Amino acid sequence: MEMRVRSGGHDFEGSSYISRVPFFVLDMYNFRSIVVDSDSKTAWMGVGLTLGETYYKINEKKTTLACPAGYWPSVGVGGHIGAGGYVILSYKVRLFEVPVRVSGFNVKRTLEQGAIQLVHKWQQISPKMPVKLGLTVQLYSIVNSAESGKKTILTEFITTYRGGINQLLSIMRRYFPELGVTRKDCQEMPWIKSYPFSLGVPIDDNNNLNVKDFLTNRGSLGDPSGFKWKVDFTEDPIPPEGLEKIFSKLHEVPPMTAQLGWTILGGGIMDKIPESRIPFPHRRKLMVMRHVVFWNKNDTSVVAQTRIDWMQQLHRIIGPYVPNNPRAAYAGYRDFELGVNVVENRDQTSDVENARMWGSAYFKNNFDRLVRVKSLVDPQNFLKSEQSIPILQR
Ligand SMILES: Cc1cc2nc3c(=O)[nH]c(=O)nc-3n(C[C@H](O)[C@H](O)[C@H](O)COP(=O)(O)OP(=O)(O)OC[C@H]3O[C@@H](n4cnc5c(N)ncnc54)[C@H](O)[C@@H]3O)c2cc1C
Repeated sequence: MEMRVRSGGHDFEGSSYISRVPFFVLDMYNFRSIVVDSDSKTAWMGVGLTLGETYYKINEKKTTLACPAGYWPSVGVGGHIGAGGYVILSYKVRLFEVPVRVSGFNVKRTLEQGAIQLVHKWQQISPKMPVKLGLTVQLYSIVNSAESGKKTILTEFITTYRGGINQLLSIMRRYFPELGVTRKDCQEMPWIKSYPFSLGVPIDDNNNLNVKDFLTNRGSLGDPSGFKWKVDFTEDPIPPEGLEKIFSKLHEVPPMTAQLGWTILGGGIMDKIPESRIPFPHRRKLMVMRHVVFWNKNDTSVVAQTRIDWMQQLHRIIGPYVPNNPRAAYAGYRDFELGVNVVENRDQTSDVENARMWGSAYFKNNFDRLVRVKSLVDPQNFLKSEQSIPILQR
């Protein structure tokens, strides 16, 4: 039997609870303790915690400490930090100082309001802006335009700033006046609210958002629906003609069934860490692009397949604008379309060249190092799954 380890259960391919061979699940759900040491600015986090629980509990202990990690609160610590592995019980992480209050805006622009030109400019100036800014744009498949009532694409410019509104406004006027951000667009908020805010969730008083519930409710994914997710890392701004192709592809799917989220990496701490420091190698990139398309739990398999095909077409459209040698992927966004270990072979495994198909996309040159480590630590390849690191042939 194969063993599956599950913490938060958010793996994109369900690899913590699905297998084509007989298996059992080792559920880490109860490993949910967290010990925050504000003197050493570290925390021991049990793998069964969700990210939202850790954000909330760290903030509860000290409002000026935080742990930078993924956006979605119900993602599990175990899979998020390791993106796979075997029975890891807890992680010790370094915490970072944050201000008690931060500011931000979420400014929406449609195609008619010049979204293409704005996104183009945004990519060019963002890496030059102060690192205290968190910069994301979200693009949604068609919505009705408030201006013309016709179908359009909606772009949200979501920015957070570790500072006050006055400084934020002056930065925006200096670097990106075309976006036209005004004081009315900006909000000040406690740091803890910047998590829902960064996801585009309204946090104003009218909305009555209970941050504790939002961050700690493990069922906050709502009704289960299907989705296909892909990721890219760009080095250069996508030119206007490329953006036009991407926007027009978004016109092909029903309203709000597709969302592209692009976050700026360039100019920040990601650039300063060497590629070989940890398995994740995608450094000195301009931005990370997340593409997701959804379908409903009541939709037929034909609808689901059409959306998956749409995602593959979108991926091909984006291809010319991102590095292709290899085309990068992110191990935390597991994607079996990149390839899997051959089931029949998994006992003696292993086929390193076959695994290179996804291994080099996830880990670039670190893949060969991971193979050498795996061969030393687990020479029988006892711990294996669809995209586990293979061992060298004996
Ligand atoms: C809605 C949603 C939003 C997301 N948002 C982000 C984001 O903003 N940023 C980001 O980087 N990623 C994001 N992800 C991806 C997420 O980080 C990965 O899917 C992550 O692996 C999920 O961890 P998990 O513990 O919830 O999943 P699980 O399915 O439990 O585990 C994922 C993988 O890790 C292994 N694993 C789990 N726990 C352990 C353990 N204790 N020891 C060893 N191996 C273990 C599992 O066997 C499986 O292979 C998102 C995913 C979803 C579904």
